[in-house]
Amino acid sequence: MSQNEEITRKTRQIYDWIDKEVDSLQNSCESCGKCCDFADFGHKLYVSPPEMVYFAQNVTVLPMTKSICPYQKDGLCSVYEHRFAGCRIFSCGKNAEARADLAEKQAILSEKALGKFKDICITHDLDYFYTDLATALNR
Ligand code: SF4
Ligand code: SF4
Repeated sequence: MSQNEEITRKTRQIYDWIDKEVDSLQNSCESCGKCCDFADFGHKLYVSPPEMVYFAQNVTVLPMTKSICPYQKDGLCSVYEHRFAGCRIFSCGKNAEARADLAEKQAILSEKALGKFKDICITHDLDYFYTDLATALNR
């Protein structure tokens, strides 16, 4: 197995773990797609190197030329199965009270996930960065 295949395998395991963890949160996402328009929604999506390796192994990497994610098509995620950790973890919450509680749980989950991605970088001698999606896609 090549290094990139091994990184992809490990990243997939982290995504599966995240999905299980998210199931236990009060995830009220209605898949409206609004948060994928980052400027409009006031949201940023950060990604890590193993995720970009995984992504490039599974989909065609497109440049990001506008504030909206280039993978959103007709309001839906066209790469849903392969979306990033931040896409999996973030949910805006139905109301202010739910949002605060959810944001705290999401922050803890994000930190744990980030630790796992950092471990992959160390093991595979990958330069670590945690950067916004536009920067990562346009590299
Ligand atoms: S997290 Fe919120 S804004 Fe984003 S798709 Fe779900 S419901 Fe829509
Ligand atoms: S990858 Fe999918 S879920 Fe994530 S920002 Fe892009 S369109 Fe939205």
